[in-house]
Amino acid sequence: MKRSEILDKYKWDPTAVYPSREAFEAALKEAAEAIAAYARFDGTLEESGENLLTALEEETRLYRQLDRLGQYVTRESDVDKGNNEAQALQGRVWKVIVDFQAAASFLGPQIIRIPEETLESWYREVKGLEAYRRSLYSIRRYAPHTLSDEGEKLLADLGEGFNSQREIRAVFAGADLRFGTIRGENGEKIQVRDSTYTTLMASTDRRVRKAAFNTLYKTYDQFGNTFAALLNAYAKEQHARAKVAGYESVLEAATFDDEVTPQICDNLISTVNARMEAMYDYYDLKREALGVPRLHLYDVYAPLVPAASSKYSYEEAVEEVLKTVEIFGKEYHDTLEKGLKEKRWVDVYPSDGKAGGAYSSGSYDTDPFILMNFTGTIDSVSTLAHECGHSMHSYFSKTANTPQDANYTIFVAEVASTVNELLLCHRKLKESQSREEKLSILDQLMETYKGTLFRQTMFAEFEQEFHGLCAKGVPLTQDTLNELYYGLIRRYFGPRVACDSQIRLEWMRIPHFYRRFYVYKYATCISAASSIVKKLESGDPAAIRGYLDFLRCGGSKSPLDSLLVAGVDMTKPEVISDAIDDFSAAVRMFRELRQED
Ligand SMILES: [Zn+2]
Repeated sequence: MKRSEILDKYKWDPTAVYPSREAFEAALKEAAEAIAAYARFDGTLEESGENLLTALEEETRLYRQLDRLGQYVTRESDVDKGNNEAQALQGRVWKVIVDFQAAASFLGPQIIRIPEETLESWYREVKGLEAYRRSLYSIRRYAPHTLSDEGEKLLADLGEGFNSQREIRAVFAGADLRFGTIRGENGEKIQVRDSTYTTLMASTDRRVRKAAFNTLYKTYDQFGNTFAALLNAYAKEQHARAKVAGYESVLEAATFDDEVTPQICDNLISTVNARMEAMYDYYDLKREALGVPRLHLYDVYAPLVPAASSKYSYEEAVEEVLKTVEIFGKEYHDTLEKGLKEKRWVDVYPSDGKAGGAYSSGSYDTDPFILMNFTGTIDSVSTLAHECGHSMHSYFSKTANTPQDANYTIFVAEVASTVNELLLCHRKLKESQSREEKLSILDQLMETYKGTLFRQTMFAEFEQEFHGLCAKGVPLTQDTLNELYYGLIRRYFGPRVACDSQIRLEWMRIPHFYRRFYVYKYATCISAASSIVKKLESGDPAAIRGYLDFLRCGGSKSPLDSLLVAGVDMTKPEVISDAIDDFSAAVRMFRELRQED
């Protein structure tokens, strides 16, 4: 579709951010001037509480302004990637944001240098400073891991060369590697690429899946030494940097950034391992449903049922989402209803040049905006529920907090969205009249748990193992990494799946291993969401109150403390088990529905 053919009510509205281009230009100019003048605070923070407060307030004001400027340009640039004017506008905002980061970079080190007793007395004496306690804490907690000024400068000067392995891997795998061709479902010639591999693995034709699997790994098999050298260099660098900054391990450094502890990751891994039979049971079901004598690794992404054909209009999708969130009460429901039906939060349909996928974004001074590429499938409805979860998390966080405390961290960011998705899915499983639709929902749900809970935990375990070996001084060679990975694959897929030996090379394909301990958060988020949904569905009003209070926490508490408000203790195995129970229930339900045939 052409964007001009879509009715305005299905498009978001940039004038909700700034009324006109002139207003935007004036705000951008003002921000750029204020940023240039920000250097006047440099060196003044340690002198008095008033100075500190003034610098912080100006930083917050600028941050809000830049966030809003960014919202305005993104509303235009993301709906038409070919709109050069919008892209140029975005470039100008980006430049000002980078300038701001550079201009305010003295804040951290100078805030850390203020003695604790001095700061405490300022909190008592300077009206307004208390409101910055949490953000100051977030900076000052790094004190034990901050080097001398010379040390930090040295790190910053060397910093450009750091973490280059990820980029090198991406260039090598994306631009240099050549994979062969295979015959597609209709006999057509298809070039195998890393980017299209997942689609080929979801083919309903087993021959295509097997050919893609063999072809892809034939190429990877020729470059194992290079990939191992890259990962080895990455692990060594991370280890050295963690050590220099006074962390026990790479895991401790990574979890410190998230304000959690290594125990959270350990708990995830040990609980998933203790419940591995649930996964094996799913693969048995997969084997039965696909009707193959033995399940191979090129079968595990094959859909169990054809995607449900039921089509939803956008208006119907909105009603589905609103019905799902009724459980949260009037404020949540009515705010969302108004946002979806009157305030044009959503840019609904795909059109030429529009960004793909879906997201929710917003700033402290604007409404949330949701980008959709709505197609009318149950998947699309689920995506809308998911994005509305993000939007409403931000809404509650903003209404309950100051701008400096409103941003929640990555560790909790996918909880509210996943809660909505799971609630919708459970409700449709109860209410849908279509067996076909139910099977399709269950297939999708099992796939989500497999990919988000089990697979990401396996990745985290691989990271723990190879970083652990590196810490002991063991070089990570191709053989070491292949063996390590293959051992995990066999454990996670179980004795009844044929673990084709090529899969030992899969670690080479995963860019996330160059982002230390990132992916386990996908697994903890879905577990927290599952656990919350279980409490919400029990009908306990305290669970609903607790959940809304969790949304209101925003960034005012640590992620673990915020989740406790929703009754979720991430240090306990129960949280992970709740998700595995939900997964197993889906496997059971799918089996029963299938047998009704
Ligand atoms: Zn999300």
